Order: sequence, then C-alpha cells, then structure tokens
Amino acid sequence: MKALIKDKPLRGATFTDLPTPQIGDNDLLVRVRAAAICGTDIHIYQWNEYAASRIKLPLLFGHEYAAEVVEIGKNVTNFKKGDRVAAETHVPCGHCYQCATGLQHICEDMKILGVHMDGAFSEYSILPAVCAWKLDPSISYDIGATMEPFGIGVHAMSKTKPAGKKVIVFGCGPIGIYAQMVAKLSGAEYVVGVDITKERLNLAKKMGADVVLNAKEVDVVDEVNKITKGFGTDIVVELTGNKAVVNDATRTLRRGGDIVLVGLYAGPVELDLVNNVIYKEANVYGVTGRIMWDTWWAAQSMILSGKMDLDPVITHHFDLKDYDEALQLAESAITGKIIFTMQSG
Ligand SMILES: [Zn+2]
Ligand SMILES: [Zn+2]
Repeated sequence: MKALIKDKPLRGATFTDLPTPQIGDNDLLVRVRAAAICGTDIHIYQWNEYAASRIKLPLLFGHEYAAEVVEIGKNVTNFKKGDRVAAETHVPCGHCYQCATGLQHICEDMKILGVHMDGAFSEYSILPAVCAWKLDPSISYDIGATMEPFGIGVHAMSKTKPAGKKVIVFGCGPIGIYAQMVAKLSGAEYVVGVDITKERLNLAKKMGADVVLNAKEVDVVDEVNKITKGFGTDIVVELTGNKAVVNDATRTLRRGGDIVLVGLYAGPVELDLVNNVIYKEANVYGVTGRIMWDTWWAAQSMILSGKMDLDPVITHHFDLKDYDEALQLAESAITGKIIFTMQSG
C-alpha cells in the first residue's frame, strides 16, 4: 500500500510502499478514505523538539481520519465489513483507574494513533476497535475525518455554559473555529476570535465569529475592554499554545469567569496567577482530546442538527503523494483543515 512515513530524524517525510498491515484480535483493518493534517503531523514533518522527544522511527503518521472497515479481528463483535468509521486518537489501556471510571481519554497508559503506533496517512490502517466510531450514513468521510479535532472544540466548550455569555477564543485554527461555532450554537451573546493571520480571521468571521481581532494589529486586552465595556469576557478558550498569549488571555477574563486551556505550550508558562486567576476566582479547566464517547455523541448531534455546517472549515484537499505541498501549506498556519483524500487502492 502507499503510505507516508517518517523514517529519518530530519525535516520531511517519505512516500513509500508498505505491506498491508496485519491486525490483532481486537483491531479493525480499515481502508482510509480521508485523513486530515493536524498540528502534531506538522511537528512530525518538521522533526522539532516535540516530535524528537516522543517518536520512535520509523512511523506511519496521521491520525485524524475516516475509513471503511475491510477486516475484523476475531474478538471484535460490534463492527462488520463495510462499516464507515471515524477514528478516536486516544487508545486507552482499558484497565487503569481512569479507564475504569469513564476517563479513558486520559488513561494513564494511553497510546496515541500516529504518534506511539502507526497511523493513517496510508491506504490501509489498523484501528483498535475500542477507538472506532460508527459514522452516521449522512456524515461524509471528509467530515468524519474532522470529527476528532471538532470534538476538541466540543469538549472545550462543554466545560462551560456559553448561553448568554461573552466568549473569546484565542486561536482561529480549525479547533478554535470549531469552538467558536459550538459557542454560537449554544447561545453565546457574542463570540470574539483572536488570531494573527487575516486568512484565519476571515474564515472565523465566515463561520460565525461576531468579532475578530488581529493580535498583530490591535491590543487585544484593550479591545476586549472596549467591546465588553470593561466587564471582561465570561469564557476564555486558549488554543494558541503560545506562552506570550496565555497571560493576556487571563487578563481578558471577568472575575468569576471560566478559562479553558487547550493549546499546548513548549515548557513552563509564566502567569500572573494572583491577579488574573486567584483574585478573579477564575475557574480553570484543562482539556485534552475527547471524552469517550460523550463528546462524540454531542459532536454527532450538533452535525446532525443541520444547524452547523463544518464543510467550509475544510479549505484544501490533496493527494497523499503531494504531501510536501500539503504539509508546507499546513505549516503556514493560514488555512482551515487540509485533507488527504485516499482513493481505493
Ligand atoms: Zn490531531
Ligand atoms: Zn487506562
């Protein structure tokens, strides 16, 4: 099968032929139909510190995908050939305290598809059945491939009650835009999106953000003061993972508000905890991945409601062989979701 792998500890990737993988008893063999590029894939492509410290080579990467089931492990009873599925990236151990108490997504022995085990930038992939989500027939493979990142937006907003609230989202990449869309659907008074590229701000606006702020052009804290008449925002969602942004994000929060931290920072972060968190009695939530399967049910319901169209967040499609162009475009951080479309192989 055709596959995109990382086999050298250098920038780049290798498009190659691999044998079709052999599944274990608890796995599905799936034919990948659509696979989206995630920030993690960019780290792997660049081979930065984040990737070098986590990944053993060679690795077949890619983890946000939708696929068709073509073979079933002998212990698997709840899937059949031809089922259309989307992949949950967090592979839980099934035994630890978290797994036993409904928190599989933060399993203490968790593996990540396309990071700790082979992923899905390939014609076929191994999907542990415990991580397979059956796609509703009305949901396309493209949208199926984005349910994983969409789920992060859904999970982030689920920590809060956005109805009638002023919401600000730092970062207008796909997950930021998804979070904004969920906040709007949930009845927010208004949603402010912050980013540093006009392309992403335009996309945020198109997808429903009420106000967009370019942090390169305006002082975001001053602007939020003006917009909220000095009140501050009720809900802050931080998705940039930029150390210089998170303190400003806390400064925009009103006293007693909620801040949801999702973006991943490279190393420790300096924060004025006393003034911006403790004196404010801020509610701070960390969010990672999606709750299995609560978030997926909610995400599916939002899509099926017809009140939310995720399609325009997908801005580009590429053949897998054009991976360099696709990953370099993703790196530029000016696009929505980029999808590799896999034809049947
Ligand atoms: Zn991802
Ligand atoms: Zn576990």
